[in-house]
Amino acid sequence: MTEQAKLTWENILNYVRERINPQSFVTWFGSSQGVELKDDVLLVEFPNGFFIDWIEEHYHNILEEAVGELNSGKLRLAFKALRQQGDRPMRKKKRLILSHDGTKLQERYSFENFVVGKNNEFAHAAALAVAEAPGEAYNPLFLYGGVGLGKTHLMQSIGNFIHRQYKHLNVYYTPAENIMTELIEAIQKNQQMAFKRKYRTKDILLIDDIQFLYGKERLQEEIFHTFNYLYGQGKQVVITSDRPPREILTLEERLTSRFQGGLVVDLQPPDLETRIAILQKKAESENIKLPANVAYYIASKVKSNIRELEGCLIRLLALSSLSGQEVTEQLAEEVLKDLLGSGGKITKEMIMKNVIEEFGFSEAELKSRKRTQKLALARQTSMYLIRTFLNLSLVEIGDFFGGKDHTTVIHAIEKIEKLKHTDFSYKQNLERIINRING
Ligand code: ADP
Ligand code: MG
Repeated sequence: MTEQAKLTWENILNYVRERINPQSFVTWFGSSQGVELKDDVLLVEFPNGFFIDWIEEHYHNILEEAVGELNSGKLRLAFKALRQQGDRPMRKKKRLILSHDGTKLQERYSFENFVVGKNNEFAHAAALAVAEAPGEAYNPLFLYGGVGLGKTHLMQSIGNFIHRQYKHLNVYYTPAENIMTELIEAIQKNQQMAFKRKYRTKDILLIDDIQFLYGKERLQEEIFHTFNYLYGQGKQVVITSDRPPREILTLEERLTSRFQGGLVVDLQPPDLETRIAILQKKAESENIKLPANVAYYIASKVKSNIRELEGCLIRLLALSSLSGQEVTEQLAEEVLKDLLGSGGKITKEMIMKNVIEEFGFSEAELKSRKRTQKLALARQTSMYLIRTFLNLSLVEIGDFFGGKDHTTVIHAIEKIEKLKHTDFSYKQNLERIINRING
């Protein structure tokens, strides 16, 4: 039994190893182990909770992909921390990361874990009101704000709260992007009715990152009808976006006016005190004492994205627990230097490294001839960035990518230029990479 668990996990690891950079693989997966396989649930052990946090945040998709490929999606993964930091005994709680009922609500996204500051107090209050009286308080609730400011966290908090409080209600969370995929599939298989039915039987519909709908008329139309239907039935709809409604739904005016019938609130970047409070809360939840000067140091460096703020902390704590070093400002400085760009010269290699960080492939793959859709996009992104930052010739760039023709490079650059303007979620990826390259 345990032998099988070990093998199953190793199989998954092999899949992951080929697709992420080697150093990240060793750091984050090197000390993991499959320990139990029961009822299609594989329990995997990590040294402590930070590893699990990091993996859920960064490797969720690739793990899902691996399970889909290797175990035809039947397997579910549960993570467990071997040791708890501080003096608490080991953390027993399992965290299911791949749930196949489609809800994908993560437990850690709760109101209790959400730090309220001036930047988000309205959004928080509105979300709580909706959770307490779904369908009655504000409908729809539309939350918007920049990347990593807590939109998904608040949205899932609503879902988790309702799920706990009102067991009979059917809560459904989904990124807008997934709806798109489903709709395409439904059209291909001529199953539009099933698609409609699926969304119209929800009591609480949570649609994340709706900016994805930009320019996708058919999907906007479909969502409009679904929303109208649910709204008419007194069902709750919550929507998030990286921009206010009037800026997304250019084509579908009806949608906009409908959305503005509910409540639209924004999330702003947190101020310094709130950033420190977020770090302290996170450390506390892992039962770690974070020295005040270290919290201050990190909070004063990472300003506009809470995901990055947490990323720094998690990496710092993981590093400290791996190497046995104490959590000090010096150690934080090292970690930050690593995470927030080198501050050094921009090179081809450095650009690749940042693309890899974002897309999760290896350098060899980027230079290979393999052409899955995602890999091609990562490769084209690298080409585009190398051209933009370093102004190398097309031929040089082609050579660097394993001897590709210069027309391939032109095509890549044109494609990215276009995508930048038509696909907002891609634009976000790209901006994140550029920010990191700029340090
Ligand atoms: P968005 O969806 O806006 O891009 P997320 O909701 O994914 O951002 O938040 C990014 C990370 O920051 C998550 O891990 C989330 O838990 C954390 N986070 C965001 N806002 C807060 C907050 N106010 N308090 C605690 N953690 C937060
Ligand atoms: Mg989000």
